Amino acid sequence: MELDEKYMREAIKQAKKAYALEEVPIGCVIVYDGKIIGRGYNRRTIDKNTLAHAELQAIKKASRKMDDWRLEDCTLYVTLEPCQMCSGAIVQARIKRVVVGCMNPKAGCAGSILNLLDMPEFNHQAELTTGVLETECSEMMKQFFRELREKRKKK
Ligand SMILES: [Zn+2]
Repeated sequence: MELDEKYMREAIKQAKKAYALEEVPIGCVIVYDGKIIGRGYNRRTIDKNTLAHAELQAIKKASRKMDDWRLEDCTLYVTLEPCQMCSGAIVQARIKRVVVGCMNPKAGCAGSILNLLDMPEFNHQAELTTGVLETECSEMMKQFFRELREKRKKK
């Protein structure tokens, strides 16, 4: 559990990079054998790219590092519950375990709307732990949207 918090803090660091770019603050790290092998943060607006979610960036980097599309025995830490696209990629990459900060009731596909990580019909299921540093992760999101509303009011 302490290790989960340690790596979630690394994911939060990534999310803060997105925050600094005025992107929705979502961050992700992938851990293999006690080492971070991929990091990513949301860059959707700045890259003008739907695929620029934190998880996909981290998966791309981890795959490069492992020299393999399979990320078996890896754990993915993400500050916000993954969407349908990223949950799909997690299953495709055969990631062993997913650790989530806070849930995303309107778009999450690791339990909120559905749980793509645990569909018996697919050939892979990922273990799931939720609520790690949940308050910090959700406060970061709330603060971001609060500031965004303030900025819009001023315009
Ligand atoms: Zn996503």
